[in-house]
Amino acid sequence: MNHDDDVLFWISQEEEEATAPVRALEEWTGIRKEQLPPAEMLSDDQVHRLLESLKAMLHAYNWGFVLQIEVPERIQYAGLRDNFSQDAKVKQFHYGFFELCRPGTVHGKCAFGEYCNCLFFDELFSRFEDEDLTPEEERARDLANEIHYLQKKHGDEWTKYYPYHLDPEYDDENGKPYNYGFGDGNDEEEDEDNWWRK
Ligand SMILES: [Zn+2]
Repeated sequence: MNHDDDVLFWISQEEEEATAPVRALEEWTGIRKEQLPPAEMLSDDQVHRLLESLKAMLHAYNWGFVLQIEVPERIQYAGLRDNFSQDAKVKQFHYGFFELCRPGTVHGKCAFGEYCNCLFFDELFSRFEDEDLTPEEERARDLANEIHYLQKKHGDEWTKYYPYHLDPEYDDENGKPYNYGFGDGNDEEEDEDNWWRK
C-alpha cells in the first residue's frame, strides 16, 4: 500500500472503533490463557522475558499492552495473563489497546490490585471537582494534581518531570509561567498530526 492509498482509505478513530472486525485474542494469536504459566511458577527472570515477548507480540498485533503508571513486572504479567482471553479489535488506522481490567470488575479488585489503571484514573478525576477557586488556587490545585500523577507514573524519578510551568516559584520576572524554550508549540504539533493530509 503506498502513501496515497493510506489517505484514501483513512477513517476516523470513532468510525474505526465502531466498525473494526473483532477477534478473540486467543484464537488470533494462537496462545491460550492456560498456556501462560501462573506468575508464582516462574522466576523473576522468566517473568521478565515472557512479559517482554508478550508485549512485543501484542504491539505487533496493534493491541498494545500500555500502562499509565509504574507497575511491578510480576503484577503486570499477572494482569496480562488474567485478562488474556479477551476480544481484540483489528485496527489498521489507529492504536488498539489491550483491555487491562476485566469487564465488570470493580476498579482496584482486578489482577492489578492497587496498581489498577482504571482506579488510578478514577482517583485522578475525583480530584477535579468543581469548586469556586481563584486562578491562583486553581493553579495550585493543578500543580498538586500533576505532582500526584507524576509520582504514581514515575515513582522516585518523578522530579525529572517537574511541572515548572505550574509552580509560581518558577514564574519569570513578569509573572509569566516558566517557558521550556519550545515557543508556544501549538503550530508544530498540529503539523505533525496532519502529516497524512499532505
Ligand atoms: Zn483494574
